[in-house]
This record gives sequence, structure tokens and C-alpha cells, in this order.
Amino acid sequence: METTPRLPDEHLAKARELAAAQRSDKKCKICYSRGYQGTDQNNMLVLCAKCVDVDAVGKAWREYVRDTPALSELYGDYFDEEETPEGETSDDETSEDAA
Ligand SMILES: [Zn+2]
Repeated sequence: METTPRLPDEHLAKARELAAAQRSDKKCKICYSRGYQGTDQNNMLVLCAKCVDVDAVGKAWREYVRDTPALSELYGDYFDEEETPEGETSDDETSEDAA
């Protein structure tokens, strides 16, 4: 298994910002209304699923990674789940049906 690179601390502030931006205005005991509960072993933000739109934050985060050369270099396509389906990229085999 590949290991996930550790997130550099300077980008953690941006992650917190994104989480706060997608947080509902309600008070939350789980995350103390911060939008996140802490960080995991890779220094990634652990979002509060109760009051944060996790999908929206994830989407914003992937965009941020893409737009930040240092991060896109570090993570490559780690966050690109949607793209690159397996085995669809090479044109080596001619599998077209010649009727
Ligand atoms: Zn919360």
C-alpha cells in the first residue's frame, strides 16, 4: 500500500478555512463549532460530519490541491477519484469492432 504524504502545516490553515466556509451556523458540541474535530495521522483535517458539508469541503479541497503546485506535486492524482478509470487510458490495443 502506498502511504499518504503528510500535509504540510502551512496548508492546514486553508483546510480549516474551507471547513469553516461550509459549516452551518448552528452551534455544535462535537467540534466546538469549528467545523473539524482535529487532524488525522497524515495531518489532514478531520471534518465534523454533523455540521459541515463534507462533500463540498472535499470538492473545494481537491480544487485547492490542484491549484497549488506544491500540493499537486505532493499528492499527484491522489484526490482525483473521478478521473482516470483503469485501463481506459492506453490506445495500444485496437479493440474497435471493424464491421
Ligand atoms: Zn460540528
